[in-house]
Amino acid sequence: MLQKGVVARIYPPPESIGVANRRHCWVCGSDDTRPFKDRSIHRSLVPQDFRITDAGYGATLGLRRCRDCGFIFADEDDVAELVELYEKLEDPAYEETQESRATQMEWLLKRAARLCPSARTVLDIGAGAGLLVNLARRAGYDAVGVEPSRWLVDAARRLHQVELLPGTFPHPALGDRQFDLIFLVDVIEHVANPLELLHACRDSLTPEGMILLVTPDIGSLTARCLGHRWWHLRLAHVGYFDRQSLLRLVDRCRLEVVHSCRPTWYFRLKYVAERLVQYLPIGWLNRLAERFGPLRRLYDIVVPVNPRDSMLVALRRAG
Ligand SMILES: [Zn+2]
Repeated sequence: MLQKGVVARIYPPPESIGVANRRHCWVCGSDDTRPFKDRSIHRSLVPQDFRITDAGYGATLGLRRCRDCGFIFADEDDVAELVELYEKLEDPAYEETQESRATQMEWLLKRAARLCPSARTVLDIGAGAGLLVNLARRAGYDAVGVEPSRWLVDAARRLHQVELLPGTFPHPALGDRQFDLIFLVDVIEHVANPLELLHACRDSLTPEGMILLVTPDIGSLTARCLGHRWWHLRLAHVGYFDRQSLLRLVDRCRLEVVHSCRPTWYFRLKYVAERLVQYLPIGWLNRLAERFGPLRRLYDIVVPVNPRDSMLVALRRAG
């Protein structure tokens, strides 16, 4: 079970987030923040809003932008409910994407192995259905994962025979354990305490260890071209970094960047085509693919996708 003490430490309860404090930047602490985007929904959040396969692009909580570091964050009471909502998250469609996501995790593991060849221990935070943990174990690493969704913890057991630690990080079952590689893949944009989370990761690194952090880049050309229709603008994302604000976060955690790149994702063509419907008139093609065998088989192919709107940074302790 999730430890209440950990939740309180990582996600302050609503009464402790005063309206004024809530508007302070989560990265640099500045109070010079301005409204960036209005809230898109007129209801409370529900666990389904956080589905990994969610295609409700452009819908967000009310967002503010820090004028000092550029970080954009949700300034609403809903952020105090995040852990509880993630615990209840179920995402059956996510199971169908395991094959393509495995290709993506292999890509990340290979990159990590090149950057940190002596690594033996791996921690995956926000481990989903345990894909990365499973692949890391097969590659010979001693790997563990932490995941708040009870449904995903069950899915990891069922699909990959992987036992994840249910909850958030830091996790009491890990104690003071340190790791050579810590993965924070598409996690930091989901939490209301990025500074505290990355600090905790730093404290759990071996002296030569490395953190691999992946997050969307709201300063990218793709994000700027798509504006409020950008696919990474979604209810599940409560914090949005660009290079400047990410570097500010890294610096505040006394970490340094040793490598950065635009990571590649892998998806079935069908998954990409179904989401492109929001931007391109290809609904007819998708309907045809359901009936026409050769096109259906083409839609099953896993393809690399790199819209260059995500950042991967490898971090180690500074100095
Ligand atoms: Zn800031």
